Amino acid sequence: MATVDDLTGRKFGRWTVLKRVENNKVGRAMWLCECSCDSKTQKPLSSSVLKTGDSTSCGCFQKELASNVNRKYDIRLQSKRIYTIWNDMNRRCFNENCREFKWYGEKGITVCDDWSDENNGFPNFFKWSMENGYSENLTIDRIESDGNYEPSNCRWATKIVQANNKNNTIYVKINNVTKTVGEWSQESGIASGVIRSRLRSGWQNEDLLKHVKVKVSND
Ligand SMILES: [Zn+2]
Repeated sequence: MATVDDLTGRKFGRWTVLKRVENNKVGRAMWLCECSCDSKTQKPLSSSVLKTGDSTSCGCFQKELASNVNRKYDIRLQSKRIYTIWNDMNRRCFNENCREFKWYGEKGITVCDDWSDENNGFPNFFKWSMENGYSENLTIDRIESDGNYEPSNCRWATKIVQANNKNNTIYVKINNVTKTVGEWSQESGIASGVIRSRLRSGWQNEDLLKHVKVKVSND
């Protein structure tokens, strides 16, 4: 028999896992869960439904959203995507076993109380997302790359905006002075995208900030 990850006591959205119950018809582990809302609804759910955010409440959360948020999205689909993003964000900052913890939690980057709260962290984050430009082609971005996950430092952004923001984390040494690509760009007036593309093309560091006339090719 395969070992089953014990979920007793864990929280998934508004669900708290009370205990393991009889496997379902296809032999999957099932867990009796209780919703944290006033209804105290209990329901058996499978590990995967809980872990993927397929179900995050007895239905109370969806109802709240339907009445609070004016959107054009499929709530169920979007809540699943946002749940994964929310879950990953908290893992990076709080779970030492997470591969990315060393770049987040270990560096002191954290998630604000509103978004990491055991019961309402996800609903809070979801509401903030819907009210702050969430769209399914965007990902969560920290404006200051050494700042925390909190409303004042976060936005929903395209990958391009995020790549630009990462200028702040690429360091380049030129004439024995080390600065971030963003800083070199400001100082030289050369766009950071140009500096990064020169880096990728293998330019000598000393040449990265040269102003050169470039012939535009037609391809
Ligand atoms: Zn509920």
